[in-house]
This record gives sequence, structure tokens and C-alpha cells, in this order.
Amino acid sequence: MNAALIIDTAYFVAAFLFIYGLKRMSSPVTARSGIVVAGWGMVVAVVASFLYTLDVNEAARPHLATNILLAAVALGLGLGWAWWSGRRVAMTAMPQMVALYNGMGGGAAAAIAAIELYGYKTHGMVVLTLAVLGGLIGSVSLSGSLIAWAKLDGRINKTLRMPGLQAINGLFLLATAGLGVWIIANGGKIGHLEITVFFVLALLYGVMMTMPIGGADMPVVISLYNAFTGLAVGFEGYVINNPALMIAGMVVGSAGTLLTLLMAKAMNRSVSNVLFSNFGAAGDQQQGEIAGSMKPVDAGDAGINMRYASKVIIAPGYGLAVAQAQHKLYEFVKILEAADVEVKFAIHPVAGRMPGHMNVLLAEAGVPYDIIHDMEDINGEFKEADVAIVIGANDTVNPAARTNKSSPIYGMPILNVDLAKQVYVVKRGQGKGYSGVENELFFADNTNMVYGDAQKVLVAMIQAVKSLDGGGH
Ligand code: NDP
Repeated sequence: MNAALIIDTAYFVAAFLFIYGLKRMSSPVTARSGIVVAGWGMVVAVVASFLYTLDVNEAARPHLATNILLAAVALGLGLGWAWWSGRRVAMTAMPQMVALYNGMGGGAAAAIAAIELYGYKTHGMVVLTLAVLGGLIGSVSLSGSLIAWAKLDGRINKTLRMPGLQAINGLFLLATAGLGVWIIANGGKIGHLEITVFFVLALLYGVMMTMPIGGADMPVVISLYNAFTGLAVGFEGYVINNPALMIAGMVVGSAGTLLTLLMAKAMNRSVSNVLFSNFGAAGDQQQGEIAGSMKPVDAGDAGINMRYASKVIIAPGYGLAVAQAQHKLYEFVKILEAADVEVKFAIHPVAGRMPGHMNVLLAEAGVPYDIIHDMEDINGEFKEADVAIVIGANDTVNPAARTNKSSPIYGMPILNVDLAKQVYVVKRGQGKGYSGVENELFFADNTNMVYGDAQKVLVAMIQAVKSLDGGGH
């Protein structure tokens, strides 16, 4: 068998593993194994790349040793860094990590474009156009993702706002695209300076495009850059005639596009509204006074009340992840179920800090999937629930999204927890949610606040119910 055939077969296997892995990721039951399967696909693809060295031409032979060494060093660095950072990353910091890895992908695609363009290697209009497009999109994805990472990680707290910014950004894009067209029109035969300016402009555009976007919109933006990276990788795969890159890129590109649209839909916004309006920063503004008062209750009393309810719906949010209270929560759920209480989980699509955050958390604690329900499936059931308990969620249960036209989260679909007969809200204090807006649910007549870290509150609830049941009931 010759090297080319082995490489092609390996790429086919890799592409199959990517797609099969992705398929398995669509259900929480198989998601973990899906990631491992796709990871093996990556291993096959990387090994296949080294097989090219078996069949190099005379001109390339003298450089072979150096190039293999460079590739090995790059692999070693990448593996080491990913291994180290992947093991220690906190669940709550996962979106930042996704942003960073995604940016690297965009950067890698842009690097391929750079090699092609600086080396005047690319021939043919279609290939050159794709190289330029991939370079542009990959660069925007790299610098944009880095800004998104810095914002989510709290390293950049400013959201750039100034009059005319959209126009300036438009000019940036126009200049970059214009230069790209010029490169193509000249068949790629233009000076290194122009090519450098093209990449610098594209990188700057990524920065300028991301800086005005506020915190609450960052996940949608990261998902959009994910789609960009996929597209760029797919284009560059075509340029260097690498089928594994093409397939992986297109899979990522389409998955990223779908996720972006779904997230925007979950927030009831259009993608252009996310990119060009100042939604996320509205939290700093003054909101109107909210009628009513917050009524604290003891955790134990709330726990006992739920023990005597017939139907309880749990709305978990970001605070559950912060407190790492998923195991205690499930322990409490099992105690309630043992007392014949019907318990269900209601999952908002953007609860937490990444898509699927709550599902991952609950899966980790071993909560059975048949009691976990998506928002649209369970929203109709809140009115029949005796108790809705909100644990570390805030924005995703804020009724202002339904009623208050001036609220920055107006229009976002929410969990209808306020329709339950009794609502308990577990949180540590007066902390606001991600969007920074006050929540009128906390002031409602049927709401009581259970203050404390979610973990401690659940321990107290469990103890109260246990001592009650242990005491002869
Ligand atoms: P929120 O961010 O709205 O609210 C979290 C609440 O948890 C806070 O009010 C906080 O109040 C409380 N909390 C924090 N730590 C603890 C703790 N240890 N114990 C108990 N409570 C705690 O959460 P939601 O999940 O409702 O909403 C998610 C928000 O994040 C949305 O605005 C969404 O758009 C955004 N977002 C979503 C992403 C996604 O993809 N899912 C990614 C990035 C952002 P206190 O400080 O008083 O305890």
C-alpha cells in the first residue's frame, strides 16, 4: 500500500469518528463517549499528517528533519498545555476555555492562509479566494475569541461604546475585504506588506467587533466565532487539499451556526441584534422600583414544606454550579421522592454559563434524565406545582422578561416559576444575575427567599426532612 492511500484511508476514518462522535454528543447519556470518540478521530488525523513525511519530494527532503522536530515541539506544547489546563479548569470557567480553544482553531486556519499567501503557493481563482476568505474569517475568529475570553474571564471589564462605532467597524471590514479582493484580483502576486496589512486589519476587526458586545451576549458570540472557525478551517482544508480538515471544518461550521441560532432564539433575539445592539451592558442602568418586599424563610422550614407537597419543580441556575451543590440537590430530590413527592427539573436553555451547563451538572450527580425537562416541555406545568424552587438561577426566572418592555431582558423566554403556588429562591444574598438586572420574582407575594450558599441550604433542608421523618412520621 502506498503512503497516499494510507493517508486517505486514515482521513476517512478520522472524518467518520468526528461525525459519529458528534452524533453521540447529542444525548447526555452518550455525550462523554462521543467526546472520546471524536478525540480518537483527532489522534488518527494527527498521525496521518505525519505520514506525509513518507513521501516527500527531493526539494523538501533537506527540511524534513527540522520540520518534523518543529511539528513535534508544537504537538508537545499543545498537548502539555491542553492536558494541564483541561484538568484544572473549573466547571464555571468552561466557556472561557471554549473561547480560547476556538480562537486557536481560527488562528491555525489563518496561519495556513498566511503560509499560502506569503509563499505565493496558491494557484487558481477558487483556491486563492478560499485561502483569502479563510484567512479573513480565521483571523477575526482568533482575535474576537481572545477578547471574548478576556471579557468572560473578567480581564476586560469595559464594554467599548462610542457614537459612530458601527460605522468605524464597517469601514474596517470594508478596508479588509477590499484588500482581500485586491489580493485575489492580482492572483496572489502582491507584496508581503499588503498581505501583512490584510491580516492586521482582519485581526483588528475581530477586536473592534467584539469590544462593544456586552457580557450577557458573550455565549452567543463565542458560538458564532465557533462557526467562523469551522468555516475557515473548512476553506483552508480545501486550499491544502486535506479532506479531514474540510469535513471537520464543515461539521464545526454547521454545528456552530445551528447552536448560534438556537441560543439567539432562546434569548428571543436575532443574531444581528446580538452583534449590533448594546443589550448586555444595560444592567448598569437604573431600573424602576419594584413593589413588594423580600421575605426570608429558614431553609429547614422550606425543606419540610416541600416534603408535604405533591409536586415540586426545581429551576437550577448558575449558582448551583458555583456551589457545586448538584450531589446534595439530588440527595434531597431522592428524599422527596421517597416521601411520594413528584419532583421534576426545569432547564432553561441558557441557564448557567454554557449551553447544556445544567444538564452536564445534573448528569454528573446521576440525576435520571426522565425527570429533567426542557423549558418548553415543562413551562405549562408550573401552575400545577405546589412548590417551584429556584436554586442559583436569576435571569432565567425573571418575570420582567415577560412584562417589562423597558427591561434589557424583555422578550427572553423564561421558566414560569412564578406561576407555582409557592416559590422558594435559594441564593446567597442580593447578588444579581449575569445581565445585572433586579428580579421582581424575589419580591412577589408567593415568593420566599432562602438565603445561603446552595450547598449549605440543601444540607439544612436534608437534615430538617430527615429529622422529621426519622422522628416518627
Ligand atoms: P444568573 O447568572 O442569572 O444568576 C445566578 C444567581 O446565582 C445569582 O443571582 C447569585 O446570587 C446566585 N448564586 C451565585 N453563587 C451562588 C451560590 N454559591 N449559592 C447560591 N446561589 C448562588 O443565573 P441563570 O442561570 O439564571 O442565568 C444565566 C445567565 O447567564 C443568563 O443571563 C444567560 O444569558 C447568561 N449566560 C449564559 C450562558 C449559557 O450559555 N448558558 C453563558 C454566559 C452567560 P447571589 O450572589 O445572591 O448568591
